[in-house]
Amino acid sequence: MRRLMLSCALAAIGTWATAPAPATAAPRPAPGPVADAVTAKLLGSADAAARTADAQQARISVTRSNGRWAFGTAVLPADRSADAHPTGSVFLARADARGWTVAFDGEAAFGDLAAASPLVSETEKAVFTTPVTPTYAGGDFRTGMALPFAVGQTWTLTSGPHGWGGAAAPWSSVDLAGGDQVVRAARAGTAYTMCTGWIRVIHDRGYSTDYYHLWNSISVNGAGVAQGAFLGNTGTDVTCGGSATGRHVHFGLRQNSAYVPIAGHGIGKWDFVSGAAAYQGGARHGSAYVGAGGGVYNYGALGFNQGVVDANGGGTLTRRSGPGTGYGVLGSVADGATVTVSCSANGTSHTGRYGTTALWDRLSDGSWVSDAYLSTGVNGPVNGWC
Ligand SMILES: [Zn+2]
Repeated sequence: MRRLMLSCALAAIGTWATAPAPATAAPRPAPGPVADAVTAKLLGSADAAARTADAQQARISVTRSNGRWAFGTAVLPADRSADAHPTGSVFLARADARGWTVAFDGEAAFGDLAAASPLVSETEKAVFTTPVTPTYAGGDFRTGMALPFAVGQTWTLTSGPHGWGGAAAPWSSVDLAGGDQVVRAARAGTAYTMCTGWIRVIHDRGYSTDYYHLWNSISVNGAGVAQGAFLGNTGTDVTCGGSATGRHVHFGLRQNSAYVPIAGHGIGKWDFVSGAAAYQGGARHGSAYVGAGGGVYNYGALGFNQGVVDANGGGTLTRRSGPGTGYGVLGSVADGATVTVSCSANGTSHTGRYGTTALWDRLSDGSWVSDAYLSTGVNGPVNGWC
């Protein structure tokens, strides 16, 4: 296994008055105690031999500093093998008498440091310091994200859920290609060039998204991006390791500073579904399921108080005048439709794709539907109790 000496060209953007402007990409780790402290954290719990080897490869780019504070990216390039991808974080560090305190994006300490740092813009603070949603184990799978391409296009899901680095869990990532091949931010946030061809967008609520293998990727250091902002084109770039046999975007989901399973998360009004093995699986919109190799239409982001009707087998969902089957029928809503929830209450129990619940939701038109047949991303009220 051969590690390549790679140069991660991270261009410092001129909007940061305090940022040093590296004339060339550093082929070696940046010297100094900040880089040492960041490298130590990046390598974490790796064994001693691996730490020594990896330390030679770590790419620490200090993009802003003022002596007491430092901000940048820390990347560990990967082998150029099929199941490898580089890993890394945006870091923020503060020096005091004991040395450097280093935090990585998505960690609680990162938000705390950001709030006090003169190197962090107001735009970034607004993202970094939003309250973190409990991780997926907390039962809230809402992301507010669209698929990472233009709303209204259909791309091929070339691979279902798999790891950021291949088959290894968590299966945080999917591969997408097609349409106009323009990769766009899944949700608003602040964007960072981790490495040529690799962009990270940090969102609110502890989420971030990674985009790899890009051609013509933007060169950014904390720029605010809107949902749908251009990030680059699908490509086969492997500047920081891994492999790509055909142009695509390797799209990964992170929360609270770690990759998390993309399955269950609502993105572009699709719920991703893990398969029996990595790269299998697919995505579901209502009762429609698309496996790897199929096309996924980008419906845009599902609102935090919205749901997609999943009638669990097609057909329609009955709208009633109250929270139960004893109430009169007002009409129906189609499988796959988007509805907006005003509030929720308990009523008669029903069993849908995701289990049995007595929860009913009052929709924005005043009618009621059973929550058993809505995919909202939350196992409970999404907009409070009526
Ligand atoms: Zn991939």
